[in-house]
This record gives sequence, structure tokens and C-alpha cells, in this order.
Amino acid sequence: MNLMLFGAPGAGKGTQAKFLIEKYNIPQISTGDILRAAIADKTDMGMEAKKFMDAGQLVPDSTIIGIIKDRLAESDCKNGFILDGFPRTLAQAEALSELMSNMNISLDKVISLNVPDELIVGRITGRRVCSKCGASFHVEFNPSKKEDECDYCGGELIIRKDDNAETVISRLEAYHTQTAPLIDFYTKMGVFMELDGTKDVSEVTADMFNALA
Ligand code: ADP
Ligand code: ADP
Ligand code: ZN
Repeated sequence: MNLMLFGAPGAGKGTQAKFLIEKYNIPQISTGDILRAAIADKTDMGMEAKKFMDAGQLVPDSTIIGIIKDRLAESDCKNGFILDGFPRTLAQAEALSELMSNMNISLDKVISLNVPDELIVGRITGRRVCSKCGASFHVEFNPSKKEDECDYCGGELIIRKDDNAETVISRLEAYHTQTAPLIDFYTKMGVFMELDGTKDVSEVTADMFNALA
């Protein structure tokens, strides 16, 4: 199963990806997580990407496409994968189509989690992420069992540097101008599917599993 989670920053893509991993036993490919790992490792690519991320702007397509090309070639992607936060521009979507067609595979579904802008700021400012595995929690809407500790791996929960009210505005703008055009692209491809992302985490998961069944 080759899936893509689509939606605004904070729509719940990372949260729902964890449930898809468990159910289908396929890896999550989060370009945001890969970029943050590169920053932690202080690689040249990470240091360059950091400037864009801290400003709430998209990292250049060439960097992102290179990351995905390498990642899809890894053996754990053989039985499928969950794209999370990629593609975010038309150029990335076109590059993905070409990559996948070269691999003789295709996308089964693009799952859009629809959440209006008004709810996004609260989601992002209350987000806490695991410093080890990247899992997402929310202080109010999706709290971890133990405060500041990841339910999945016990890692420390932290606030992402770009998760502040100012940066959210630029990230939402980038989403509407650069990413939203992909709705049309994937609708025409016949794989686009929309879910109400404002429901509780468990309800969204149930709707998603129903839609995939
Ligand atoms: P969120 O879902 O909250 O937007 P992500 O972890 O997906 O967070 O992304 C964090 C940042 O990483 C983005 O704001 C952007 O700067 C960069 N980024 C991640 N994925 C991409 C991508 N596919 N194209 C361009 N930039 C990306
Ligand atoms: P994305 O990967 O799309 O940027 P996340 O999965 O990190 O989004 O979710 C953003 C924030 O919203 C996190 O704090 C998460 O715990 C919370 N969240 C996720 N899904 C829901 C939901 N259905 N209702 C309320 N809060 C949610
Ligand atoms: Zn963790």
C-alpha cells in the first residue's frame, strides 16, 4: 500500500501516520523528520534547510526531491510506505510521479485531513514532539500518558523551534499558495480522498481505516 497523508501543518498527518504504520506495517516517510535529523547531525544539507524551516518557508524542491529519491530506494519501502509532508509543491508531485513510475509503482490513496486555519494555531502551539522518534502529542487534545515523556519510546517531549504563533502564519500561507494546488493534481489522478480532520484523533483514525478498507 502506497499512501500519502495530506493537509495543512498541524492537521494531524504525523499522528495518523503512527496508526497506519501499526496496521499496515509500512514505514512513514516524513520529510520534516528527515530534515530535523539532518539538522541534529549538523550536516551541510541540514544547516541550509534550517534557515527555511525556522522562517516557516518551504525548503527548496531540489533538496527535498533528493531526500525522497534516496529514501524510496531503501529496502523497507518494498511493500509500501506512508508519505507524510511530501509532496508540498507541484514540482515535488511531478518528481514523485516520475520516480514512482520508474519503480513501476503507483499511489493508492492520498488522504487529506481537512482542518480549517482557525484551529491550526492552537494545534501547533500546543504540540509536543518526541525528541527521539518524532511522535506528536498535544498538551490538551492528545496528551501523553506521562508528562514530557513519549508513549511510544519514552523519549523526552520537546517544543519544535518552528512551532510558534508567528511562524504558523507563514507556514499556512505556504500551504495555501504552494501546497493546496496539489488537491487538483491528485483529484485528477483519481486518488484524492478527504476526511474531517477536526474530529477526535481516534475518530479520524476510524474514518481513515474505513475509507481504506
Ligand atoms: P508541519 O506538518 O507542522 O508543517 P513538517 O515537519 O512536515 O511540519 O515540516 C517542517 C518544515 O520542514 C516545513 O515548514 C518546511 O520548512 C520543511 N519541509 C518539510 N517537508 C517539506 C517539503 N516536502 N518541501 C519543502 N519543505 C519541507
Ligand atoms: P502534522 O503532522 O499534520 O503537522 P500532527 O500530527 O503533528 O500534525 O498534529 C498537530 C498537533 O495536533 C499535535 O499536537 C497533535 O497531537 C494534535 N492533533 C492531531 N490530531 C488531532 C485531532 N484529531 N484533534 C485534536 N488535536 C490533534
Ligand atoms: Zn518517542
